[in-house]
Amino acid sequence: VFSGVEPAPPIEVFQNTAAFNKDDYPYKVNLSVGVYRTEENKPWVLPVVRKVEMGMANDMSLNKEYLPMAGLNSFTESANRLLLGDDSTAIREERVFGMQCVGGTGAVRMGAELLYRYANRKIVYITDPSWPNHVGVFGDTGYEVRTYSYWDSRTSGMDWDSVKFSLKNAPEGSVFVLQAVAHNPTGVDPSKEQWMEIATIMKERKLFPFFDLAYQGFSSGDLESDAWSVRYFASLGFDMFCAQSFSKNFGLYNDRVGLLAIIVSDQSHIAIAKSHVELIGRRVHASSPHHGARIVSTILNNQALREEWKGCVTKMATRIKLMRQKLYQKLVVLGTPGSWEHVVQQNGMFFYSGLNVRQVEFLTKEYHIYLLKSGRINMCGLTLENMDYVANAIHEAVTN
Ligand code: PLP
Repeated sequence: VFSGVEPAPPIEVFQNTAAFNKDDYPYKVNLSVGVYRTEENKPWVLPVVRKVEMGMANDMSLNKEYLPMAGLNSFTESANRLLLGDDSTAIREERVFGMQCVGGTGAVRMGAELLYRYANRKIVYITDPSWPNHVGVFGDTGYEVRTYSYWDSRTSGMDWDSVKFSLKNAPEGSVFVLQAVAHNPTGVDPSKEQWMEIATIMKERKLFPFFDLAYQGFSSGDLESDAWSVRYFASLGFDMFCAQSFSKNFGLYNDRVGLLAIIVSDQSHIAIAKSHVELIGRRVHASSPHHGARIVSTILNNQALREEWKGCVTKMATRIKLMRQKLYQKLVVLGTPGSWEHVVQQNGMFFYSGLNVRQVEFLTKEYHIYLLKSGRINMCGLTLENMDYVANAIHEAVTN
């Protein structure tokens, strides 16, 4: 049945991890995949998550029945509040609907489908670079995908002129995917002033903000500040979406917990959006998974557990920041050519290093350090133990 069909290209991040796992070099380092690692370079199940899971295992009142179409109610409601704040006007006015989805990816897909099919949105703008699946998901849904330059290699910062140009010249009704915080892969976020300018242009030009919030807490360590951009747009009365992922900040990667928040200015549109998105969900995943959503809702709805969880998020963000500082200091001490301030200026999990493909290949071949060809480095793969090794290797790659 597949004769003559070309195989699809490999997914780089998984290909890298497979190669890393096969590599038996003792000092190998995986800086590819976007997951948190402890100081001991181990995956981390948050202790508060473990505690809740133990409770769930012993809770005989829980069962395995299907959830309602929109997912677990206590999860969707608490996720909306985590996103928009307990005092959100949009929530009070019942202008928000949360649809549980299969991870942040499922939420992006669900939102993309809803807009394309029922809101006549056919054009999407995505930053170049971005999380590669943005182009994949919107492209597969049928959109005309337009990318615009976001990264300025001369300043190792944002290409602000290009961002503004794209906003000002996009056809009315275009969808803009906006990473709310800790932009993947660049770690470069707009300042508050820039967000305000983006919002002003989007209002004027009648563009649709589609936020993607996959790293709430990972930039500042504070959940409230990291949701600022979304809350600001919501306060301006935009019709907008936000895809929330709980993979990173709860460490629930393979439990696939996500939420599509649909925020509208006209309350009567909620029922319409809900009916359609539920039907799309029905045809895609039929019913949402319970386990991860129950963990998130249990934590968010219990003051003590919530505080404990916030502590975990802060701990992860603090470790990443420390790794940034250490790497920066090492590169400065080594006198590695070029400016490395962007190591400490960028936010979140990723360091968009500016290393070119040849340098990346050199790191993998000579040092068994695995990272993406774009030069993106997952800062969580660094530890105090492998720091010197990695910094020296980068120095060699740059000076070689
Ligand atoms: N959006 C961005 C920007 C991401 O980086 C990721 C994951 O890496 C996702 C969405 C999807 O996350 P999930 O694993 O919850 O599907």
